[in-house]
Amino acid sequence: VHSKAIGAPKIPAVKWHDIGGLHSVKKDILDTVQLPVDHPELVSLGLRRSGLLLYGPPGTGKTLLAKAVATECAMTFLSVKGPELINMYVGQSEENIRDVFAKARAASPCIIFFDELDSLAPNRGRSGDSGGVMDRVVSQLLAELDGLHSSADVFVIGATNRPDLLDQSLLRPGRFDKLLYVGINEDKESQLQVLKAISSRFKMDPSVCLHDVIERCPPQLTGADLYALCSDAMMSALKQKIKRIEEGLETEESDLVLRREDFQNALEK
Ligand code: ATP
Repeated sequence: VHSKAIGAPKIPAVKWHDIGGLHSVKKDILDTVQLPVDHPELVSLGLRRSGLLLYGPPGTGKTLLAKAVATECAMTFLSVKGPELINMYVGQSEENIRDVFAKARAASPCIIFFDELDSLAPNRGRSGDSGGVMDRVVSQLLAELDGLHSSADVFVIGATNRPDLLDQSLLRPGRFDKLLYVGINEDKESQLQVLKAISSRFKMDPSVCLHDVIERCPPQLTGADLYALCSDAMMSALKQKIKRIEEGLETEESDLVLRREDFQNALEK
């Protein structure tokens, strides 16, 4: 059962330049993960962190940051969603957690990314935890985290939208003891940087002015919102292309190019 719940570690394809804005979080996360890689002597002195927690609203780039830091530090990446590890069979959830760490050690240097960490490690002693399953899961997770201190090559990144729901013992020194907030882009400049990073993957007509696009967007935008905007623009471009192919004005082989009107259509949507 558990081998299905947990995928194999992979080398992620996300690069630093795929992420727009978030400069200070990028620097902090890179420093934290890279330092022990560059200075193994810190590990023997016990000056090593084994985990950090990214928290903030959905769609702000937490997963993207975790993947990019793995690429940057040449580490494999094992992504696990908290709820996927919880299993109704007695002892299976703890076994799943042990399995995650064993897979990471076997594929080291490795970053384990625990998404929706709050669902895996909620405050202990909550009502509704029938049979104490969650208590045992948290204990197992803590034991694994504490066991990482002797090795430099497995790093754990947790992500949550609700840090207030987390079991506080997870945040003690030596565990997820560095917390980084990843927030919504509230200023036009950072929104523009995110839009530029996303749209760099598409071919664009010179008539497109990303600055104007951002000016017409609502004031608060996540990276996921801007990604949705680009997807809508791409759909619009695709519809136009199909029309032009039918009219004999274009061939299927020609590149899909996003034009000013496509962004206008997407913004209206
Ligand atoms: P959740 O809490 O829902 O898991 P998240 O914070 O992990 O969300 P991501 O999955 O990293 O969010 O981001 C969702 C998508 O939004 C990404 O796949 C990417 O396309 C886009 N995105 C988010 N932030 C950025 C950014 N700063 N630069 C470029 N793209 C971004």
